Amino acid sequence: TVTLRSGAVLPYERLVLATGTRARRLAGLQDGLDNVAMLRAVAEAHNLRARLAAAQDVTVLGGGFIGLEVAATARALGKTVRVIEAAPRLLGRAVSPELSAHVLATHREAGIDVLLNATVDGFAIDGTHLVELNIDGKRQPIDLLLLCIGAMPETALARAAGLECADGVVVDAHMQTSDPAILAIGDCTRFTDRRADRPLRLESVQNANDQARTATATLTGAPRPHDVLPWFWSEQGAMRLQMAGLVPPEGTPGHVTVRRPGPGANPNAFSLFHYVGDQLVCVESANAPVDHMMSRKLLEAGRSPDAAAVADAAVPLKNHLA
Ligand SMILES: Cc1cc2nc3c(=O)[nH]c(=O)nc-3n(C[C@H](O)[C@H](O)[C@H](O)COP(=O)(O)OP(=O)(O)OC[C@H]3O[C@@H](n4cnc5c(N)ncnc54)[C@H](O)[C@@H]3O)c2cc1C
Repeated sequence: TVTLRSGAVLPYERLVLATGTRARRLAGLQDGLDNVAMLRAVAEAHNLRARLAAAQDVTVLGGGFIGLEVAATARALGKTVRVIEAAPRLLGRAVSPELSAHVLATHREAGIDVLLNATVDGFAIDGTHLVELNIDGKRQPIDLLLLCIGAMPETALARAAGLECADGVVVDAHMQTSDPAILAIGDCTRFTDRRADRPLRLESVQNANDQARTATATLTGAPRPHDVLPWFWSEQGAMRLQMAGLVPPEGTPGHVTVRRPGPGANPNAFSLFHYVGDQLVCVESANAPVDHMMSRKLLEAGRSPDAAAVADAAVPLKNHLA
């Protein structure tokens, strides 16, 4: 049974957990500070909009998708923007080093101050106001701080039910947890992607939708193993990033990256085709939506066009689907 906060007790034959994630907090920093914002729930989005209007200097902690999207928006609103990222590159968990470098250059060109390998090692608070952050030992005044340091899977309920969890609720190819009567889908799950052949936890609308379809098939007695090409997008100012497939982990033997120029003479439009050996496994596109759509079709069809051919923008990708 499931017990609601109201005390109501609901029986179930099959239960689906879709509990998502919660924003990671900065260790030691109290909640409720009047110039610290997060972005997860709708109320936080409204709060951020109001705070952004009142602020002139915005510090974004975390150079992931959400942090960079907000940073680009704040910069476009004329704010002074600084991004603090602990890792050596932006979007390190999600995109290739080549695309990271392009994203970094684009944001810096727009006037965003991006600090890499930078860590917060202290803060000064006055009442409910964050006055300063210590960044790499230097005290920096704070007008508005946005915390975008990732999300943690919401597994409390799953743990209480005794389900296997490991940075997410562990599910099999049918979205079944360690208790076959309970399924889990979306951001809260850890599953083994057939193509990547490694356990993953993906935070994307597309993944949540596709896992919901797989779970529905399981629940309706027509099970089919989850086998879906992951894809993602992010809009950061004028930069539109679209990714199909998963970038091979750094150091993967046989990994080769081929650059295809995008449409027109725009140097900021291109796609990066990632091969492992002869196999095309992932395509990252910047401002090249048609190539992204075609790449998804190629990957879904299991096609691996010749690297020299994809590098030639004069040859439409759809030719490789024929
Ligand atoms: C600012 C922001 C921008 C994003 N942009 C993109 C994007 O551009 N593209 C993209 O693909 N993805 C994006 N995402 C990610 C996307 O929102 C998530 O991948 C998607 O919402 C996951 O869906 P879900 O149903 O698994 O979880 P959620 O949407 O997080 O829903 C989980 C729900 O479960 C509720 N819940 C949790 N625990 C319990 C409980 N014990 N009992 C009852 N209810 C509970 C939560 O309150 C929540 O409402 C973004 C996320 C954020 C925060």
